[in-house]
Amino acid sequence: MTIFRTCAFVVSFVMALPVVSWAADRIWVPSDIQQGQLVIGTAPADAQIIFEGDALAIAPNGQFVFGFGRDAAPQSVLQVTYDDGSKQEIVLQVAPRIYDVQRISGLPPKKVTPPPELQERLRLERGKVAAARGQFTTQMGWADGFDWPAWGKVTGVYGSQRVLNDIPKRPHFGLDVAGPVGRPVVAPASGRITLSEDDYYYEGGIIIIDHGYGVTSTMFHMHSVDVPVGAQVKRGQQIGTIGAAGRATGPHVDWRINWNGRRLDPRFLVDEMPERNPND
Ligand SMILES: [Zn+2]
Repeated sequence: MTIFRTCAFVVSFVMALPVVSWAADRIWVPSDIQQGQLVIGTAPADAQIIFEGDALAIAPNGQFVFGFGRDAAPQSVLQVTYDDGSKQEIVLQVAPRIYDVQRISGLPPKKVTPPPELQERLRLERGKVAAARGQFTTQMGWADGFDWPAWGKVTGVYGSQRVLNDIPKRPHFGLDVAGPVGRPVVAPASGRITLSEDDYYYEGGIIIIDHGYGVTSTMFHMHSVDVPVGAQVKRGQQIGTIGAAGRATGPHVDWRINWNGRRLDPRFLVDEMPERNPND
């Protein structure tokens, strides 16, 4: 009798186990996630995933993409509902990062209010940038890997911030690559051009590429912008040239990655900068 009960327990346990582990295997996300990171996972294409209040779109091949901002909380949850109605919560640990923060005190107070016509111009430009980043398409440019948009010295990183007279300034969300004016800037991944302007006040020549599923690249300070809105570009295709247009201290391209309103770190998407210019 004792043996029978033990067997019954073992049988029910073994029968239950595959269901549990199968459910656990239906979704995959990387376990080593950091603040600022773009994350690609896989799930059944007919599942539903809620991330921080928003439904994530799952591509027909089961891949989905999301990301964490500079100051993302140390823990986040994916709430998954499968087509059979079963539910699962995936708890994600988001490793904090240390950013380069410079504190400068004792500066003479400076308060600059832009004149009204400049405020109006900035309002319009910000609106066009937001609209270009806010489009949703089902392109898969984000899924095929990214390249550096230009070869050169990395002179600015994501997340850095200055604190002037104890007032934290807006962090830097781009990855700056310096090079001579006119050096080619290429599309880091395939996509569609959703903004192409040659004279924005802060950004100078600016291009935004929609890589699909809410992922965009933005390039600032370009000397020339060589592709019109609506153009479909391939990874590695030239889209313009390095410049110092707008408010820039020297010629460089400032590359930004956004996903669904969050600013991500492009550095996660590329290998080390090559020692030599691959185009020389
Ligand atoms: Zn920059």
